[in-house]
Amino acid sequence: MNLTKLAKYALAGWLPGGRRQCIMCGHRVWRFMPYMSCSLGGPGLMHVIDMIGSNPDQFECPRCGAHDRERHLLMYLEKTGLLAGFGGKSVLHFAPEKRLSRRIAATEPTRYVLADLYPGAPQVQRVDMLQMQFESQSFDVVIANHVLEHVDDDLKALGEIYRVLKPDGYAILQTPYSAKLHRTWQDSGIDDDAARLQAYGQSDHVRLFGQDIFARFASSGLLSCVRHHDDVLADVDAATCGINPKEPLFLFQRPGDP
Ligand SMILES: [Zn+2]
Repeated sequence: MNLTKLAKYALAGWLPGGRRQCIMCGHRVWRFMPYMSCSLGGPGLMHVIDMIGSNPDQFECPRCGAHDRERHLLMYLEKTGLLAGFGGKSVLHFAPEKRLSRRIAATEPTRYVLADLYPGAPQVQRVDMLQMQFESQSFDVVIANHVLEHVDDDLKALGEIYRVLKPDGYAILQTPYSAKLHRTWQDSGIDDDAARLQAYGQSDHVRLFGQDIFARFASSGLLSCVRHHDDVLADVDAATCGINPKEPLFLFQRPGDP
């Protein structure tokens, strides 16, 4: 971190009297730090189509580094009671966020697998979401927070998630999407970083999900139990917590045995 950035984080995070609060570390801060700009001049496509997902303007806690989507998911998990319910369950967590995974581990799941296609830490196991090494019906919970927009074949991944879930098990699949786009869109011709950045808003995203995202996810056989911020967190001031209230809880469940 360079000195200018360090000074910005210090002022935002350590100056007393901050009016924002990080749900992850509990500290009061003056602001959440913005996501690195990927502006290409003028308002980008992601703004124009009102992408619902991470809030790039209130992205990172200057104290603990938690991202807004991680903070929002923690709030959803706590308020719905899902987090407390992880105790005694088997949980598969893709691209596990360091702080959130500590909170999940504290609930004492019987099995907690941290998974990533490119593991960056020894405790994280290499797992390809398109071809998982796990037996069918082996997990009670699968978590993938902002992962499916990076996966080449999301429908195949959803099929794998369905397969490894036990009956009545559930998946938490936070994914950015635009309610303005009628259909999910991707094109295999968009095959390099510069093109993906322009088309999808990030160089490592491979599609734009549209308003059909819920039906698309449900086409895998998972039942939609999606919850909205105002239904679950109506008492939460989104600006204070630095979260995007438009982002729903993408909760899906594998149906139980008939
Ligand atoms: Zn924090």
